[in-house]
Amino acid sequence: MELLQLRNIKKHFKVRKSIVRAVDGITFSISKGETLGLVGESGCGKSTTGRLILGLNPITDGEILYRNENVLRIKGQSAKRYRRNVQMVFQDPYASLDPRMNIEDLIAEGIDIHGLAGGRERRERVLDLALRVGLKKDHLSRYPHEFSGGQRQRIGIARALAVQPELIIADEPISALDVSIQAQVMTLLQSLQEEFGLTYIFISHDLTMVQYISDRVGVMYLGKLVEYGDCEEIYNYPQHPYTKALLSAIPILGEKRERVRLSGDVPSPANIPSGCRFHTRCPFATDRCREEEPILKGGESHLVACHLIES
Ligand code: SF4
Ligand code: MG
Repeated sequence: MELLQLRNIKKHFKVRKSIVRAVDGITFSISKGETLGLVGESGCGKSTTGRLILGLNPITDGEILYRNENVLRIKGQSAKRYRRNVQMVFQDPYASLDPRMNIEDLIAEGIDIHGLAGGRERRERVLDLALRVGLKKDHLSRYPHEFSGGQRQRIGIARALAVQPELIIADEPISALDVSIQAQVMTLLQSLQEEFGLTYIFISHDLTMVQYISDRVGVMYLGKLVEYGDCEEIYNYPQHPYTKALLSAIPILGEKRERVRLSGDVPSPANIPSGCRFHTRCPFATDRCREEEPILKGGESHLVACHLIES
């Protein structure tokens, strides 16, 4: 079953006299228990997409369906259930941890908000979660500033898990951590997924980590998906010049790959190029690319938006 479906969602906003198209028509779906990796350079709209799903920002256009229910129209109990079912893990958990609350109360915050448990049951649940994510019992009475980055991320993960969610959106969950700690957090996320049957949207600019954890991958560029599909397939047979460029820039992944070099910087989402929005940086761009926008097409397991690819 498809747990979450995004249908052509857009987020446009006005900055001075221009319209910023941060997310510009994204369609994808994700099944229960699956991990979708969203990759792309900073400013491509991947975090905004995560925030739109969570309802942290209103969307400009499109539909979000959760268990076939239109998220933008739900109210009351269903809305509350959705807010519980979909949780976020942030890049910098410290920013989301109230420094005056101890770890027990921080982990229990969602439990309290949703009225899921009190007294002894609450304490037991929190302890259980803390141990599950690799914290210790005596950590619970301490405060966020006493912890390292990796431990704070464990606290962040326990907080998200406390309300027994189905879908976790992890936005660059390891990019602020030391390399040695990154692997530990990735392993933890994977084992929690197996244990609780979680579904993940894993947002990252780190293609190696995305490959490690994802079943499906979406490559984003200036608010759009340019390539989407089965993770293995995309890493083994990237089709879009942008995906090829990203992959060939990574020492290990790029070893035997066709080298695609990007020219220039990412244009501003307030001034998106005509036709294929990637044409200003694409080594294969033709006149057609400057005029006509390619649509995302292909088979179930692999979709590409590029005029070079005929399918
Ligand atoms: Fe490059 Fe043209 Fe393909 Fe866009 S459509 S990625 S500009 S070849
Ligand atoms: Mg971001």
